[in-house]
Amino acid sequence: MGTLLAAPERLASLEGRTPTVATLCSHSSLQIFHGARAEGLPTLGICVGPPPRFYDAFPLARPDRFLSVPRVKDLPAAADRLRSEAAIIVPHGSFVEYLGPEAFSTIDVPVFGNRAVLGWESDRRKERDWLESAGVSMPRLYEDPSEITGPVIVKYYGAKGGKGFYLAKNRDALDEFRPTGPYVIQEYVLGTRYYMHFFYSPITEHGYRLTHGSLELLGMDRRDEANIDELYKLGAQEELLKAGIRPTFVVTGNVPVILRESLLPKAFDVAARIIERSIELFGGMVGPFCIEGIMTEDLEYKVFEISSRIVAGTNLFISGSPYSDLVEPGLSTGRRIAREIKRAQAEGRLAEVLS
Ligand code: AMP
Repeated sequence: MGTLLAAPERLASLEGRTPTVATLCSHSSLQIFHGARAEGLPTLGICVGPPPRFYDAFPLARPDRFLSVPRVKDLPAAADRLRSEAAIIVPHGSFVEYLGPEAFSTIDVPVFGNRAVLGWESDRRKERDWLESAGVSMPRLYEDPSEITGPVIVKYYGAKGGKGFYLAKNRDALDEFRPTGPYVIQEYVLGTRYYMHFFYSPITEHGYRLTHGSLELLGMDRRDEANIDELYKLGAQEELLKAGIRPTFVVTGNVPVILRESLLPKAFDVAARIIERSIELFGGMVGPFCIEGIMTEDLEYKVFEISSRIVAGTNLFISGSPYSDLVEPGLSTGRRIAREIKRAQAEGRLAEVLS
């Protein structure tokens, strides 16, 4: 038996009813609605203002109903309506970003996954405590710039999509850095980025087993990041700077990748450590999550970030990935979420996957 994430009162609205999968109309909503529909669950699109027209172009992913709010901030006030529809909110990156982790974590509607993870993920230092205490390798953090021995990346707290990050080739190059807010200085890791899409189910007792439940790998991507990914065309970062352009890591899209098969044991080991430690710290990071890191030439995987919910890179794999096809052909992360909800309800274990 896994940890109970939700008190019974929180789930009273679902008692004896078919749950409705609800999410904000953005990010990975097409995949979430498409997956719920494939599992026979009704869907509700939460939108700001009138329903977005683009759903009309995708009939298999259009939500059955819409709930319109004047601003995302007004959503907590619509909690009664959501509960009356037996809604389960499926969080995605934009949802949490627009509403704010605080407001999201107190919304009075059942949420898929463990909302306690938000407090650990939204604070870069707490996230580091979690990962390092799990034995996961991370880019070195420089508390004192005089210790810098190689290239570094300076990241602002909560920087949106990597905007405003600063790269310095060495300690001296950091002299030109003029901070505009709180930041951390990290070792700039040279290697290849891999964003791995996992799913942790506390109620599945087969497959890649953990202390409680099991782990699935559903896909992998790399992000296209403007304008740094096109930097090679100019030859060097200095060229961008000379042209008055600050290098940025703003995500503009995603490309599918696969990992050398011999590195898969390492990928699962890192994911398993992160989950086992999350169970000890706050009851477990349940459902989809993404490990974001860099594989170095020594084949060491250094993790710079965790996303504790469905990431937009999974949108590449709405009809399956080279990994999820080996779990079940055509399985998307969106569908996997709906499947977990259905199974947990059938087995009376919703409190282990909802919070
Ligand atoms: P983050 O906000 O931590 O997700 O970082 C945004 C982007 O910056 C990542 O997608 C990477 O391309 C890059 N990045 C972050 N940390 C590092 C690092 N320590 N070394 C090299 N690149 C990094």
